[in-house]
Amino acid sequence: MSTTKQFDVVVIGGGPGGYIAAIRAAQLGFSVACVDAAENAKGGPALGGTCTNVGCIPSKALLQSSEHYEHAGHSFADHGIDVSGLKLNLGQMLKRKDTIVKQNNDGIVFLFKKNKVTFFHGRASFAGAATAEGYPLSVSAPANETISAKHVIVATGSNARELPGAPFDEKLILSNTGALAIDAVPAKLGVIGAGVIGLEMGSVWRRLGSEVTVLEGLPVFLGAVDEQIAKEAGKLFAKQGLNINLGCKIGQITPGKNNVSVAYENAKGEAQTAVFDKLIISIGRTPNTNGLAADKVGLQLDERGFIAVDGDCKTNLPNVWAVGDVVRGPMLAHKAEEEGVAVAERIAGQHGHTNFNTIPWVIYTSPEIAWVGQTEQQLKAAGIAYKAGTFPFMANGRARALGDTSGMVKFLADATTDEILGVHIIGPMASELIAEAVVAMEFKASAEDIARICHAHPSLSEATKEAALAIDKRTLNF
Ligand SMILES: Cc1cc2nc3c(=O)[nH]c(=O)nc-3n(C[C@H](O)[C@H](O)[C@H](O)COP(=O)(O)OP(=O)(O)OC[C@H]3O[C@@H](n4cnc5c(N)ncnc54)[C@H](O)[C@@H]3O)c2cc1C
Repeated sequence: MSTTKQFDVVVIGGGPGGYIAAIRAAQLGFSVACVDAAENAKGGPALGGTCTNVGCIPSKALLQSSEHYEHAGHSFADHGIDVSGLKLNLGQMLKRKDTIVKQNNDGIVFLFKKNKVTFFHGRASFAGAATAEGYPLSVSAPANETISAKHVIVATGSNARELPGAPFDEKLILSNTGALAIDAVPAKLGVIGAGVIGLEMGSVWRRLGSEVTVLEGLPVFLGAVDEQIAKEAGKLFAKQGLNINLGCKIGQITPGKNNVSVAYENAKGEAQTAVFDKLIISIGRTPNTNGLAADKVGLQLDERGFIAVDGDCKTNLPNVWAVGDVVRGPMLAHKAEEEGVAVAERIAGQHGHTNFNTIPWVIYTSPEIAWVGQTEQQLKAAGIAYKAGTFPFMANGRARALGDTSGMVKFLADATTDEILGVHIIGPMASELIAEAVVAMEFKASAEDIARICHAHPSLSEATKEAALAIDKRTLNF
């Protein structure tokens, strides 16, 4: 019988919240273990969670590959590059994606070794109440261990939400897992849910040749995005051929032998039936507390099934913390990481901090959409007096040289103090451009601060400076 191994900190879950918390805790001098259940195709460990295995990383790999394919087919000719005999090698595209995932999996194994984090491959569950040694935890096969922890950080992530009556089979009805591994381009692809994941996955398969129909329940498109930006996105996606239908009520979903039929009511209340070769369901994600035995120790969940935490990620149990997708707040990898670091620092008696007002959001479609802070509709609803300034990429020299002039940068600043309250970007490399806005908001910068900073020419970031100038109607190039 194996003896109980004792640790200062045990992290349950090796996704971005968990593995980063484990590394930071080890840096702070604690003895740390991380337990993760995910396995690769060969049954070995697959550290990195949803993000690395079936989320951020593989989706961005396929978005990049499919964008190259689309450019080669449609926009290279304009650059004077004639491509003949263009052919899709989907097998190679998926293999490249898998290689990138594996590099990330292996990278975390290396980081654990470097930081002396002990890794256990298996599922961890609470084995009973805390003793003098801490919380006893059992770890299932292949590790088969009993360990104890003075502090437990739960970072067990989330799972794709199913539609009632339409369980994922990952052959016809796909979650993100299946959507990232379709082995032949479906002629007709249905996507239920026009959120971030639905739009990203829909874009990948549209670029590769699918006719994509998106069915969204809400009457508005991208409700969390600034209205002006969402409207622009809607127009651009429609022009690309993404068929987005809002205000749909989904009815019976019936898988056949090689296709799946979806009965729904459109926004006009008309009964419709659509038949797809594959159907992706991307209607949100549910917190994952499966197999944790939370009830054994009385770990409290909230009414939506998330682990209940306070602003510092403390649960109702002493020395048990929870971070990432399994707790309230945006389901984003970088939010999970920030919480992981903050909790490790709090355990060490430091003042870890996560600023929820400056968490950037990105949708990696083409053009990309990125924002930080408040939208115009939020400011209006809160009765905050603001000034708005926009600058179109059409008037930016670098965007013209790139051949990607769609979209704009938009600044929202306090009408009295000029403090930046929100920055919204739709356009090329919005995911990178947003970092300047995040830094500015962290330092409570005014729009004038950005307007006075020298930006390299020609660069997309000049559009950011110009949008800041637009706050006071002083754009120089538009
Ligand atoms: C298709 C897709 C694309 C995405 N793209 C982005 C993006 O571009 N940017 C972004 O910021 N976010 C993106 N996300 C969201 C991002 O993946 C999540 O927010 C992030 O992974 C959450 O991290 P986490 O550490 O909380 O949980 P997870 O990454 O879900 O990791 C949890 C880990 O815990 C393990 N686990 C669960 N229970 C146990 C247990 N009892 N014992 C041991 N191990 C356990 C799981 O196997 C998993 O490995 C995307 C998500 C999807 C699905």
